[in-house]
Amino acid sequence: MKLHVYNYLTRQKEPFKPLERGQVTMYTCGPTVYDHPHLGHAKTYVAMDVIVRYLRYLGNQVRYVQNITDVGHILDTGEDRILKGARRERSEPMEVVETYTRSYFEDMDALGVVRPNISPRASGHIPEQIEWIKMLLEKGYAYETPTGDVYFSVEQFPEYGKLSGQKVEEQEAGARVTIREEKRHPADFALWKRAEPEHILRWPSPWGWGYPGWHIECTAMATKYLGETFDIHGGGLDNIFPHNECEIAQAEAATGQSFARYWLLTGSLTVDGVKMGKSLGNFLTIKDALNLYTPEAIRFFILSSHYRSPVDFRRDAVLAAERGVERLHNTVRMLRKRMEDAMPSGTADLSYIAEIDPHRDAFIEAMNDDFNTPQAIAALFDLNKEVNSLLTADQPLGRGTLSAIDGLYRDLGGKVLGIIPDDLTQNVGGELVTGLIEIILDIRQRYRDAKDWEEADRLRHQLAQIGIEVDDRPEGPTWHVEHRGG
Ligand SMILES: [Zn+2]
Repeated sequence: MKLHVYNYLTRQKEPFKPLERGQVTMYTCGPTVYDHPHLGHAKTYVAMDVIVRYLRYLGNQVRYVQNITDVGHILDTGEDRILKGARRERSEPMEVVETYTRSYFEDMDALGVVRPNISPRASGHIPEQIEWIKMLLEKGYAYETPTGDVYFSVEQFPEYGKLSGQKVEEQEAGARVTIREEKRHPADFALWKRAEPEHILRWPSPWGWGYPGWHIECTAMATKYLGETFDIHGGGLDNIFPHNECEIAQAEAATGQSFARYWLLTGSLTVDGVKMGKSLGNFLTIKDALNLYTPEAIRFFILSSHYRSPVDFRRDAVLAAERGVERLHNTVRMLRKRMEDAMPSGTADLSYIAEIDPHRDAFIEAMNDDFNTPQAIAALFDLNKEVNSLLTADQPLGRGTLSAIDGLYRDLGGKVLGIIPDDLTQNVGGELVTGLIEIILDIRQRYRDAKDWEEADRLRHQLAQIGIEVDDRPEGPTWHVEHRGG
């Protein structure tokens, strides 16, 4: 089966065909940078990351755009999130933006999320957003209020609600509380808001000084870098209404073309069964989580559920994920060690390849079914089982065979899922540290050869104290970093 994806726009699984063969254009709503990213961000962006990685693994060129919201995302209280952050920290809004944009990329890098090709900022695209608003006004989809706000008129766009299934008539009753006098319809949303001089984030426009509404930035930036119609729009399901709905309305009203062709949205994250909230005391930033668990364990945990499903972050589940990852890593370490010591042999032994190749097929089959990562992970464990018995069977395996197996891990566990690093020792300080540990293990081996068990154990104990665990295996000692605090 070729790749099929569940499209929220049609509510069904469809074969995935990009507009241009081999080229995929993709946009995902990025973070509002007024605080450190939390586990909910990890869930959305790791899930989206694997989608991008897999599309690339299939040979597509993916142009991946993800915005940075640094203006205009208003809280229910009517407050701009960035300004709220600036007040909290008594600093400049752009300082807040800079701090948390860095924090966001730091965390995403730590989680192995591949950076987008373009990370456009809303504040860097004000003229583009003004152009869009002008266009919507000219075409009669928007109106200006006497006080200098501009609203999108949902009644002018009959398809409003087609993504989320929300109907304008239904919203009328519910939204009445927040109705603003200047709005013609309670569901109308702001394209431009007038700002008083004390509002620091403001720009001149044909409607006076102000700032853009949140939704228009995504329409403006997605189409600027990907074209009026592009392939995939991703993000969290919690943004489907009103945000994603508004993006579609703005874009399609102004251009008359369809906006994103496939909508791939991720399920939400709860902690111990409840929605995460600062007041609930169960709020975990990604930095908190990385102090407790390895990045691979967090990824593995997230990918153990389908991206559209909600996940519940529980300590025992993440620890189980950590053990799962460690099982894979141990096999790969053993495999790579065997490769170093193996007899050079150029070609792989076809009989072994025949044994392991069905696992690649099973993995691809799972991923082609709307990126079913839980099943893909199961295929990886089937492979692991097979490889473990190959490695322990005491058969002479040539380097060609071993490296073919290693290539499979690098592709499926590394490139696609991002849970098996190319260098399993890289996080401890690179070649220098690796070299020093090898020297220490050599010295320890000499004590062992001389049957000086006390000295050998002392070295082992000292290494353990700095977090380096030595495993004595029949083929010689291996070592890994024990992640503490978990
Ligand atoms: Zn967006």
